Amino acid sequence: MAVPQRRISKTRKRLRRTHFKLEAAGLVACTHCGELIKSHQVCPHCGYYNGKQILKDGKYVG
Ligand SMILES: [Zn+2]
Repeated sequence: MAVPQRRISKTRKRLRRTHFKLEAAGLVACTHCGELIKSHQVCPHCGYYNGKQILKDGKYVG
């Protein structure tokens, strides 16, 4: 089995791990109300998608 030739120092390990972080994926501003929303999904705040109102009071209005 392959084994590391030397121990990784605390600093090296921590420097590598500075790149391990979570990012908010695919968030964009709604073109209608400006809220941050998931891209390619109807805005949950104003119900608009692609410049048209799709949802009103939680109901589909096409
Ligand atoms: Zn919106």
